[in-house]
Amino acid sequence: MDWYQKDIDDILIELNTSRDGLSGEEAARRLEVHGPNILKEMEKRSRIMMFMDQFKDFMILVLIAAAIISGIIGEVTDAVAIVVIVIMNAVIGFVQEYRAEKAMAALKRMAAPSATVLRDGQEAEIAASGVVPGDIVLLEAGNVVPADLRIMEAIRLRAEESALTGESVPAEKHNRALAGDGQPLGDRRNMLYKGTTVSYGRGRGITVATGMQTELGKIASLLQGQEEVKTPLQKRLASFGKKLALAVIVICLVVFISGVARGEHVLLMLLTAISLAVAAIPEALPAVVTISLALGARKMVRQNVLVRKLPAVETLGSVTFICSDKTGTLTLNRMSVEELYVDGGALGGLTGKPGMAVPTPGADMSHGLRLLMTAFSVSNDARLNGEGVITGDPTEIALYRIAAENGFGKEELVKKYPRVAEIPFDSERKCMTTFHRRNNGTFVSFTKGAVEPILERADGMLISGKVMPLNRQEILDANERMAADGLRVLCVAMREWDELPGKGALEDAEKGLVFIGLGGMMDPPRDEAVEAVALCRKAGIEPVMITGDHPLTARTIAERLGILQNDTKTVLTGQDLASLSQEEFEERVGEIEVYARVSPGQKLKIIRGLQDRGQFVAMTGDGVNDAPALRRADIGVAMGITGTDVAKQSAHMILLDDNFATIVRAVKEGRRIFDNIRKFIKYTMASNSGEIWTIFLAPFLGLPLPLLPIHILWINLVTDGLPGLALAAEPADEDIMNRPPRHPKESIFSHRLGFDIIWVGLLMGGVTIFTQAWAIASGNHHWQTMVFTVLCLSQMGNVLAVRSDRQSFFSQGFLSNIPLAGAFLLTLVLQLATVYVPFLNPVFKTTPLSARELVFTLAMSSVVFFAVEGEKLLLRLAGKNGQWRVQW
Ligand code: ATP
Repeated sequence: MDWYQKDIDDILIELNTSRDGLSGEEAARRLEVHGPNILKEMEKRSRIMMFMDQFKDFMILVLIAAAIISGIIGEVTDAVAIVVIVIMNAVIGFVQEYRAEKAMAALKRMAAPSATVLRDGQEAEIAASGVVPGDIVLLEAGNVVPADLRIMEAIRLRAEESALTGESVPAEKHNRALAGDGQPLGDRRNMLYKGTTVSYGRGRGITVATGMQTELGKIASLLQGQEEVKTPLQKRLASFGKKLALAVIVICLVVFISGVARGEHVLLMLLTAISLAVAAIPEALPAVVTISLALGARKMVRQNVLVRKLPAVETLGSVTFICSDKTGTLTLNRMSVEELYVDGGALGGLTGKPGMAVPTPGADMSHGLRLLMTAFSVSNDARLNGEGVITGDPTEIALYRIAAENGFGKEELVKKYPRVAEIPFDSERKCMTTFHRRNNGTFVSFTKGAVEPILERADGMLISGKVMPLNRQEILDANERMAADGLRVLCVAMREWDELPGKGALEDAEKGLVFIGLGGMMDPPRDEAVEAVALCRKAGIEPVMITGDHPLTARTIAERLGILQNDTKTVLTGQDLASLSQEEFEERVGEIEVYARVSPGQKLKIIRGLQDRGQFVAMTGDGVNDAPALRRADIGVAMGITGTDVAKQSAHMILLDDNFATIVRAVKEGRRIFDNIRKFIKYTMASNSGEIWTIFLAPFLGLPLPLLPIHILWINLVTDGLPGLALAAEPADEDIMNRPPRHPKESIFSHRLGFDIIWVGLLMGGVTIFTQAWAIASGNHHWQTMVFTVLCLSQMGNVLAVRSDRQSFFSQGFLSNIPLAGAFLLTLVLQLATVYVPFLNPVFKTTPLSARELVFTLAMSSVVFFAVEGEKLLLRLAGKNGQWRVQW
């Protein structure tokens, strides 16, 4: 018999568990036996493989082969030195890749899902990997099912199982045993399967299978082997790199042929040409992008941003619109009821505001007020947990509190009016209904939610204990008064029943309601959101508020936050949005700053409208229904605290603190990371081209080969590795949030990058060749050591100057990037060591330089630094005068 055919009680016995779940000890024991509830991942690349992969590059293999040949027939020291450098290079590559992989693994672990189970009779939130067979799992809309479960309790429970069954319409679930062998998964309506999602309602189930034993586990091998997604920049760099590699190889070929034609030794020329190719081909560029993004992503965790999809880090800098929910993201999500409306009149003063205070509990409380409090209390999903803390949705917590403070504690009241059925809240309908049994055997239902949908379903109102005809206008007026104060207004209505409506008729039950009253809650805007909104604007990003709340509430809060800039701007409602065609909407979409009474489904229309206008959209979301919008947005942002599993899984990044300001900070960080990748590209490509120019041009000017293979490889090793990587630690430019977003399609070489690479490379080659020519002309025998040092240290000069596109190095300060300062000094010391440490002289074919020679060498090495600083100075001056303004 399969699980779906068995009765709950039998399963409880079979799995040796109870309705209260397992004890902590028993669960730990089972975890030992069954292993963690995870799908086995494909074999990871071992560290050795990762290291060996560093040698996969064809050019490196040719280099090693050539070195060995030259070792056999000629100088062994040379060969050994070359191989040692190649290995050191591989070590650096390996360390970088390993760090990046670890950073990614850490991010993955942080994004791991959790599950709510019963342990020792108490609800406990644990990592989903810790769920064991026999665990009782609690589920609600938005959860990802952590393991295979046999349903014990289903309250309008529906699950989306397309991953397993291919059926995209959510399946309605129940808890009754089913007959018949071999039912297909889609028909097992009393089961929930790992990896599927709860799209509606809530329920609980007994865990019957975990990890690889689950249905998902059985097909897990089919899901694996997904390629890592490449970021747009990586793709572009990879294709650019291929073309560049070809060009470099052609140049190296010319170097080789012309060298041999001049009568140089064939093997020396071969090694020179290959070393040059290895040094100059930027094969590491795409890898550097991954490393910068991965390490950047790890850093972002400290700023409360968890990146789920790496390309998001890169594309953050292109965001032009941030569409944010109001509640919790722009506001504190700390609600308190400030005003009530019952019996046709408002009661204020709940938080010390002038007005009528709520009467103390007892006889002087009106019938309407009592009912309102009762409804707040029992039609409420907030709960008191084991530690005496009220948990749940902040709206509900606020209602729970005001009721409890006035003597309507939920814990006692639910005993008197037990909940027997419910229609759960969903943000499309914007209301929820609960049914309660009364002492006399009859029933009462309370419906609470947004004012408009409830008034549509009501035809009476309660005044002084009597049901009167509904005065819609009066209630709407009261609602607007509260909303204009920025209050979030919830409406409550009721209906009495002799008999409970049947299951199928529940939807119809939200009809013929009698209005009881309103509750107005204040949810203060976040202070930091005001600043963040202003910062967005400076950075060319339009902040947009999207809320399910009333347009007036939305307007008031948006004005306080600075999102709505002036009174003339309209607040578009979900209704307006629905009535506009996509084309009409797109005409206006660019100007709308606030959307109210929007349902999650409409977020898609907003995103589509903006994207069709060429905008790059970040969109926040937390509920199940937000998943499609989060996926469709260029950057989908899920809430870490209030977000459902489904939202988190669909998002590109998760806000660990649910705070709007954090999104803006993430954008800034994304811009910084991208800037630094550009700086790295600028630096290495200018350096590489400097090396190429030197070797390529010197012979044409009648000079001997300026550098030996070992010199080229050494320069590549010490200048590319550490200093290049330290650029990733460069702090954000001062003006980083004063410039408009980067167009996602623009070339990486735009904004002068390509130009700078060309002229700096040429200058570097020119300075080096000049050093060679001058030294040779003055009969200096140390010329090669000088050339070697000038080329190496020119690159160090460049790395300091390249740190900012505009700001002077002197105003930035040497120590403002400590890793870079360290890398700079280390490279300087290492380079001087190759010149002055006696036993290194034969290895590097160097000779110690005299003080005069050294001073000359250092002076020549600093030319590039001063030239680049000079360019920045010109740019700053030109920028100030308003001419020749650098476009960002
Ligand atoms: P946001 O600004 O993040 O969109 P929101 O809370 O306004 O938040 P929803 O959660 O979709 O958006 O809620 C829409 C409306 O439904 C609210 O304005 C409120 O009137 C009503 N509502 C919200 N929470 C509840 C609840 N727990 N019970 C009943 N009605 C609710």
